[in-house]
Order: sequence, then structure tokens, then C-alpha cells
Amino acid sequence: MQQFQHYIGGIFSDGSAQFESRDPATGDVWAMMPEARADDVNAAVNAAYDAFFDPTWANMTASARGKLLYRLADLIAENAQVLAKLETRDTGKIIRETSAQIAYVAEYYRYYAGLADKIEGAHLPIDKPDMEVWLRREPLGVVAAIVPWNSQLFLSAVKIGPALAAGCTVVLKASEEGPAPMLEFARIFDKAGFPPGVLNVVTGFGAECGAALTTHPKVDHVAFTGGPETARQIVRNSAENLASTSLELGGKSPFIVFEDADIESAVNAQVSGIFAAAGQSCVAGSRLIISNKIKNIFLMRLKEKAEAVVIGSPDDMATEVGPLCTKGQLQTAVDLVAASQAAGAKVITGGIPIDGNGNYFPPTIIDCSAAPDAPCLTSEFFGPVLSVLSFDTEAEALQLANDTAFGLASGIFTKDLTRAHRMIRGIRAGIVWVNMYRAVSPIAPFGGHGLSGHGREGGIQAALDYTKVKAVWLRTSDDPIPDPFIMR
Ligand code: NAD
Repeated sequence: MQQFQHYIGGIFSDGSAQFESRDPATGDVWAMMPEARADDVNAAVNAAYDAFFDPTWANMTASARGKLLYRLADLIAENAQVLAKLETRDTGKIIRETSAQIAYVAEYYRYYAGLADKIEGAHLPIDKPDMEVWLRREPLGVVAAIVPWNSQLFLSAVKIGPALAAGCTVVLKASEEGPAPMLEFARIFDKAGFPPGVLNVVTGFGAECGAALTTHPKVDHVAFTGGPETARQIVRNSAENLASTSLELGGKSPFIVFEDADIESAVNAQVSGIFAAAGQSCVAGSRLIISNKIKNIFLMRLKEKAEAVVIGSPDDMATEVGPLCTKGQLQTAVDLVAASQAAGAKVITGGIPIDGNGNYFPPTIIDCSAAPDAPCLTSEFFGPVLSVLSFDTEAEALQLANDTAFGLASGIFTKDLTRAHRMIRGIRAGIVWVNMYRAVSPIAPFGGHGLSGHGREGGIQAALDYTKVKAVWLRTSDDPIPDPFIMR
């Protein structure tokens, strides 16, 4: 059985306790994970706090920080296969996806490596004589980065990369579900040559480890990805330490197909948009909003493709849909499908878990035309389940698209350019993909509205968001200061 460790202050250690990790494909326990309790979290935050003020990091030039991040990126690229295999084993995400995604994670670190020495201050044309006023951009301090199980290496890169580029230090809390790739990442990070304590990696449960981290008085910022309910707790916790927060939460993203769309291309994008990662993706295009003029032909093609998807072991390169990460996720899918059927929705394909010990749920399509209140239209499944609605007019399509408390991603399929522009303007979401779906880049900001959270990850602004501005005033006159009782 494999054993993993925490990484605190540059030292690998067992946690205060241990917990089992199960293989989502078989249900078998395959590894023991360290569990961070309040004392471990305290040690990790203190290590990050000390490292933040230690001259080795605090006085390091921005270019030198960038070079360390480049080195880290190279190490990730060299070890991509090891990390991919561990993520596949511990989370059930298929090897085809983890291999490609982790190779690309290195590009995120390269992007932020390049940005490290481009985080500039400013000079202000102040409205008073004999004064120079300028702004320094300084790192926020200790960042608590908290991630869910799906795509942890990716979701942590968009926090660790800009935070370290800006000169912050980080305590990363890996998800208690499938933490193996993050604990292995710590070993790779250790080889890059950063001073001890600049990054600390722990894992544990939300109630103790997460709460201890987010209420800690030495934490300045919490960068969170996860569900809206946890986000609410984190915001409440931030009342303790008044840490700032950035929240990347869930989605119920609309995938809108007009009658003039290239049907084959839209079907393929929809298959990838909802069934990739077995639907465990925050940007999953989980609400198909289809023109009534092409509904039948579109659903026929989609059903054919959904039923042809290769379901199998996540470590097999031929597999297209693997297991869900946890039994809990599987149960959520089962319950939501049942509740939606009870509300009048019609299952077109799938809907019943696959026999065996693994957490397998098949690609599922549910027609909700006769069930506008079906829970599958409002609740995030985090599983391979697509809900379908249809429309007659563009206005109706937009109204259905925005009929959600979330606002993360969206897709529009049409050849009509002016209509595409009207829809882009009208959709309330942080990302709009036109005639495509599910693409990300370190260069493009990523984030949402409403229950999908606030703040943006990716892009230049993300690095600036890990800084705060210090206004510096310097008097250039050698004359004695006049009347001390007047504010200048
Ligand atoms: P979750 O909110 O249950 O857990 C996320 C993390 O928060 C875990 O590490 C967990 O241990 C921790 N946590 C739980 N309680 C906590 C507390 N009280 N204090 C601090 N930390 C706590 O989310 P999940 O179910 O693991 O992940 C799925 C969710 O994540 C979905 O809603 C999905 O849409 C969302 N997600 C969003 C994005 C994005 O970028 N917008 C990306 C991936 C996933």
C-alpha cells in the first residue's frame, strides 16, 4: 500500500492522523493519506508566514522568482506521466485527460514565471508641489489555496503560479478525495529550489483542516475552488481573520444550438462538453438549449454518440468515460435523475449506474421540455448528465440560458455573426465559447458570476490580484516643514 506525506516548511511528514484512499474504479483501498488536523495546519501556516518575511524570499528579485517558477515548470513537464498516473489512480479521471492536462499545467507555471518581473508599480502626478508619490505593488502575504478533487494540479497551478510570481507564500490544502497527485507535486516542487515554507502542501477534511486554515490569523487571502455551500462557510470564516477571498465555484452552463449550426460539430462539442471528465467539470455544458427546428435530428445524433462512448478503466488509453470520483457523487447522480423523472423529465439514454464496485455512471441525456422545474436543470450533477430544453426564438434561447443562479461558462453554436454578438452581450457568464466549447489557457481569465463565484484566475490580472498597492510619499524640498497643524 502506498503511503503519502505532507510538505511543511520544506520537510515531509506524516499527519496527526491517516486516512484511506479508495480507487474509484474498483472501490479498493490503495493508499494511506496523511490527515492534517489543526496543529498541522498551524505548522503549515507558520512555515508560510516565516518564509514570507525571511529575506531569502522577501528580498529575492522578481526575476529570480520567475526563474524558480520556470524550473518548476520544467520539472512538472518531466514528471507529467508520474503525476497523471497518480491523478488517474486516485480520482478516476481518465489517463487520456490527465496526461494531456498535466503537460499543459507546466505552461501555466511558465506563463506566471514570465509575469513575475512584469508586475509593475506606478508614478502618480500628484496635485501638490515638492512631492513625489508612487505606488509599489507588494505581495498579499500568506495565501491559503483550497482545491476540490477534479483537476487539482490544474486548479492549484492557477493559484500557486500567480501567488508565487507576486511574492506571496502558500499553504495548499489538497482535497481529501484523491490528494495523491498534489502530495507527489510537493516532492517535485521541493526539487525546484524554492526556500523552505514558500509552498506547503497538506490534505485533510473540511471541518477541521479547512476550517483551521481559513480562520487562521496569519492567512491574508483564501483562494478557493469548490462548491457554493463550502464557499459560504469560507466567507463566514473570513470574518475571523478578515482575509480576502476569491471563489471559483460550480456551474450549470448553457450550451445553445441554433438551427443554422454545423450539427456534427455542435454534437461533438456537446459530447466533450458534458461527458469529458465524466461530467466532473465546473464548466460542463450541462444544459443543452436547442432550437426546436433541429431538436430531433440533434438528439438522435447525440444519443448515438453518447451510447458509443467507451466506458472503462481510467488507466486505459482507449477509455473515454471513467468512474466518478466518489460513491457520494454516484449517489448524487442517481438521486437527481430519479427526482427529475418524478418531476416529469424523460431519460433519453443512460440514467442507471453500471453494476460493479466502481463508481460508474453512463452518459445520460434527460429531456426536460415537459418538466421545466426538474431539479436536474438547477442542481449541479458533477456527473455525465445532460439536461435538454428547447426554444423557438432567440429571445427565448437567451432567457433559458440566463435562467440559472450560476454564471460560469456558456456555448453558442450559430453561423449568424450578428446573432452571435447579440447572444455574447446578453449571456451572464464569465466565459462564452462560440462554435466551440471547453478550451482554457493561462492567457485567458477564468471565473464566474452569481453562484459561480467571484474573482478571475488566469491572465495578467490574476497576478496583480495577489498584490496590494502601497502608496509612498517623498518630500523633495529641503525647507523646514511649515505649519505642522495643517494637513498637506
Ligand atoms: P467542496 O466545496 O466540497 O470541496 C472543495 C474543497 O474545500 C475541498 O478541499 C474540501 O476539503 C474543502 N472544504 C470543505 N469544507 C471546508 C471548510 N469548511 N473550510 C475550508 N475548506 C473546506 O467541493 P467538491 O465537491 O470537492 O468539488 C466540486 C465542486 O467544485 C463543484 O461545485 C465544482 O463545480 C467546483 N469546481 C469549480 C471550479 C471552478 O474553477 N470554477 C473548478 C472545479 C470544480
